[in-house]
Amino acid sequence: MSGFEEFPREHRVAELFAAARSVQERAYAPYSHFPVGAAILTPEGNIHVGCNVENAAYPVGSCAEAGAIAAMVAAGDLRIAVLLTICDGDEVGTCCGGCRQRVREFGSLDTPIYACGPEGVRATFTMAELLPVSFGPDNLRGFVR
Ligand SMILES: [Zn+2]
Repeated sequence: MSGFEEFPREHRVAELFAAARSVQERAYAPYSHFPVGAAILTPEGNIHVGCNVENAAYPVGSCAEAGAIAAMVAAGDLRIAVLLTICDGDEVGTCCGGCRQRVREFGSLDTPIYACGPEGVRATFTMAELLPVSFGPDNLRGFVR
């Protein structure tokens, strides 16, 4: 895979893409047949991955981003420096609304989010672009003890 040279080196896009592509293959998506992979790069330089996990009781299923965040937290990391997702289909696939809020919790407004298809990066967004005027941990500062 080539074509990642245009992105900032520190985003490690080629590495995140490979990790997301690999975990996408392990997605459990027998109902939607829409496997998704997600890879998170932390400020510490660690990569955590997740895939969607569906369920016969549909609402109980979880997104790839949720899985990657759970893996990140379980490993002891709490910040998202870069997020990359990959899905199939002809459209640009971005995080669902719920996952935008999940990413907001651990990212910053300028966290880059790469939306990929099988061939590579299709679009790049910042957290603020995907979830403008968002509600995050800062809003609760002073209220939560
Ligand atoms: Zn989602």
